[in-house]
Amino acid sequence: MDPSITLPHLPEYEPMLIGGDWTTGASTRRIPVLDPATGRQLTTVAQGDEAEVDAAVSAASAAHRDGRWRNLPPRRRQDVLLRLADLVERDSEALAVLDTLDNGKAIERARGDVELGLQAIRHFAGTPTRMNGTVHPAGPGRHVYSVREPVGVVAAVLPWNFPFMIAAWKLAPALAAGCTVVVKPAEQTPLTALRLVALCLEAGVPEGVVNALTGDGRTGAQLVAHPEIAKVSFTGSTEVGRLIMAAAAPSVKRLTLELGGKSANIVFADADLDAAVPAAVRAVFGHSGQMCTAGSRLLVQRSVVKEFLDRMLPAVEALRIGPGLSGGVNIGPLVSQEQFDRVTGYVELGRAEGAQVAVGGEPLPGPGWFVRPTVFTEVAPDMRIAREEIFGPVAAVLPFDTEEEAIALANDSDYGLAAGVWTTDLARAHRAASALEAGTVWVNTYNEFDPAVAFGGVKQSGLGRDLGDAAVDGFTELKSITIAL
Ligand code: NAD
Repeated sequence: MDPSITLPHLPEYEPMLIGGDWTTGASTRRIPVLDPATGRQLTTVAQGDEAEVDAAVSAASAAHRDGRWRNLPPRRRQDVLLRLADLVERDSEALAVLDTLDNGKAIERARGDVELGLQAIRHFAGTPTRMNGTVHPAGPGRHVYSVREPVGVVAAVLPWNFPFMIAAWKLAPALAAGCTVVVKPAEQTPLTALRLVALCLEAGVPEGVVNALTGDGRTGAQLVAHPEIAKVSFTGSTEVGRLIMAAAAPSVKRLTLELGGKSANIVFADADLDAAVPAAVRAVFGHSGQMCTAGSRLLVQRSVVKEFLDRMLPAVEALRIGPGLSGGVNIGPLVSQEQFDRVTGYVELGRAEGAQVAVGGEPLPGPGWFVRPTVFTEVAPDMRIAREEIFGPVAAVLPFDTEEEAIALANDSDYGLAAGVWTTDLARAHRAASALEAGTVWVNTYNEFDPAVAFGGVKQSGLGRDLGDAAVDGFTELKSITIAL
């Protein structure tokens, strides 16, 4: 372990936050929280049940009804959010260490994630005073205007891959819009979201406005089905996204769904390979491939495939694998035994489908859930390893001949989260960016995020957007008012 890192003292269990009180609830069932680098138990959390779900939603609902947050002067809400940002900055190293312990990610990435969460909080702190309405030209005798109002109680259901960052990406715009929130972190990685809601209280968010429930998918299912939830903001798998859509139907809940991906990263023969190769390695192997935007379908123009692989494969072999807290590690462990089994299962499947392992392909002996970064060549577009989200350090390299073929291959997917394009031809860059079916296209870069820029998917990668003005729109309803003068 990097000797400069201080490990936190973790209690035997981590309580939930309901209506301003920290509680383990009535449930005696506990979920162990494990360190993916060692398999060791860090702490436990409660399996929130119907009683806790109901209590948390009731607290948030009461806080919404009495207006203790949404009716504060916008400048006061801005001050609270700026204080929250200062507190996150104060605790940033401790939050990063906790994210690494909980999720396994490299400490450098965890520090970057906390920074991206912090940027979002600072960005959305400016929202309350700028949530402008519109006055419509309506002729004499009428005053017609539209205003944005908070949608109500939000259920924020979180994944395990960016436990802190996505908590902040959802909480900040929801609070900025004036909503009250019940957060449900992933059962594998609940710790930093619990710290974030504690910091909300310390910053002056009134009790009951932010609540946090722990538990697995059963807790999540009870939460999203609760009739007093007005909006579900979910990040996770497409499979669970579909279940949430169905659960939202009876009371017509508003939805933001950030789901899976199988993003194409396209390298044209005219690309600057000095930039494209290391970026392609980071795009798919960063965070051990456990990224929704992972550039896991690497489409390379046939005339440069050999040169590309000659450069890429040694770079992949040189990636450092190890515990996230070691410092200087590129590939940390996968988050859980389940994820380890899933990823190694896909590697076996790729072999069985007839693809060639050009590098990697083996898990490492435990403890911890480590898999060597793996590159498959000889991949056909209809193979499952080329179509399904693996969510681990596995790349599929597919050659193409023409620009049209590259776009067709990239778009031949149920997913549409992100895409990358590497070219020095400006016209081709714009043509490809326009033709790709994806919520985000990066040209000559990959995985750049900005809290001012909307992020989300098309097709089965989701609906609605995190970040940007669109995120705030998603936590509000537009009310139109016509006054006869
Ligand atoms: P998951 O769908 O298994 O779980 C996500 C969350 O949903 C967890 O908190 C879980 O407890 C909860 N949940 C499970 N079943 C539920 C149900 N029936 N009702 C309500 N909640 C339920 O996802 P995961 O394995 O934690 O995360 C990995 C997935 O997330 C990948 O598919 C990845 O692509 C996706 N992801 C997408 C984005 C994005 O922005 N598009 C970002 C990160 C991760």
